[in-house]
Amino acid sequence: MLKLYNTLSRKKEIFNPIKRGEVGLYTCGPTVYNYAHIGNLRTYIFEDILKRVLLYNGYKVKHIMNITDVGHLTGDRDMGEDKLEKGAKREGKTAWEIADFYTKAFKKDLKLLNIIEPDIWSRAASDKNIKKQIELIEILEKKGYTYKTSDGIYFDTSKVSDYNKLSHLKLEELKEGARVEKNPEKKNPTDFALWKFSPKNEKRQMEWKSPWGIGFPGWHIECSAISMRHLKNQLDIHCGGIDHINVHHTNEIAQSEAATDKKFFNYWMHGAFLNIKGGKKMAKSEDNFLTIENAFLKKGINPLVFRFATLQTHYRKPMEYSEDSIKSAKNALNSLYDQIIKLGKKKGMVNENYQKIFLSAINDDLNMPKALAVLNKVIKSNLSEKDKLATLLDFDKVFGLNFVDLKKEKIPQNILELGEKRQKARQEKNWELSDELRREIEKEGFLVKDLKNNDFEISKKI
Ligand code: AMP
Ligand code: ZN
Repeated sequence: MLKLYNTLSRKKEIFNPIKRGEVGLYTCGPTVYNYAHIGNLRTYIFEDILKRVLLYNGYKVKHIMNITDVGHLTGDRDMGEDKLEKGAKREGKTAWEIADFYTKAFKKDLKLLNIIEPDIWSRAASDKNIKKQIELIEILEKKGYTYKTSDGIYFDTSKVSDYNKLSHLKLEELKEGARVEKNPEKKNPTDFALWKFSPKNEKRQMEWKSPWGIGFPGWHIECSAISMRHLKNQLDIHCGGIDHINVHHTNEIAQSEAATDKKFFNYWMHGAFLNIKGGKKMAKSEDNFLTIENAFLKKGINPLVFRFATLQTHYRKPMEYSEDSIKSAKNALNSLYDQIIKLGKKKGMVNENYQKIFLSAINDDLNMPKALAVLNKVIKSNLSEKDKLATLLDFDKVFGLNFVDLKKEKIPQNILELGEKRQKARQEKNWELSDELRREIEKEGFLVKDLKNNDFEISKKI
């Protein structure tokens, strides 16, 4: 029995998909005007864990992710510059080149974090999606949910009775949040743009004809259009970071349910933030912005250390990033890898008792800290080495830490020779030479460990 916390009900609910044995999963994708930061990536890891847990439970998963390559304005609501056009100015490229470049960079990040790619990537600015978004706005217009201002077509949020059902805030509180961006032409502060007109006397790089004039779709309509297009009557789970609850997802629900008169997604799940010291949210607009490249690759740290670190905090709890916490995650993962390598390569049997405890942890709203505790129990247990290995490899279908690739690296001959030389130096108590050789080995990307009986072991650094 899989239980998931649903933001709609603010409760853990038993998960029941619409179609038996199959799940439609929609995850809000990146706005591709810059690299993803590791806060964004924490959310994508949480969604990957969710998908792996669904797969582990035997569901067939159809996973769609959008790429926001148009329409997301710097103010999250409807004011400010289009982030893509801003990125294009910053880098002296076209908005299309910017989208292409950062989409590729994002896919590379996912690979480094062992995140399974969605079945379908869908770009907001593709011809089919622009058409679908215009069709949706036309339906809303016919049903009387829209009005026109000098800069676009807006959705009238006062026409829906349960606009606050996802946020669980009072309408007044939602309005208060929306007032930060002033637009005197809006009927209600919470109203949002469905279509924005291109500014007069200015040609945007990304713009299309529509029944209302040349312009581009608002940010929220893309996720409604894309999820309906690809998941049709399989609108099971929709995810994103918690910052999407009060605006983006609230607006998606309002416009979709207004258009179809049907419930739009049964389960809404949200990942908590990655913060830096002092509880400050990591954001692209701040200078605390860390990428996989500058936080890990440049320092020679395997990005899976970050994946492992995120598993130690439940996805609904804020996580604090610090170099120290990464250092300890790195040591812990190194030692875990060492222990798994030592189990050899023989094929064994998955232990059903431990598997049951593991399943009950992951099925309790993706409790990964508990699941990691089960992993440690297996390692310390008195199971045979091969059964331990089989059980851990089974768990790794969910953890995604690449246990299966942990065959002992072949250590090059020259490194082994350095190790022998160092051992000899140690026996001769020539500590200076022995330290120098250790440094040389480490410079080449390997670690040397002294064992009992004058023996030593060399492994690849991770
Ligand atoms: P964006 O590319 O800005 O549209 O955001 C991509 C995803 O990252 C969304 O699901 C956001 O909710 C999420 N997100 C943004 N900042 C953070 C953060 N500091 N920690 C975790 N998730 C975040
Ligand atoms: Zn979205």
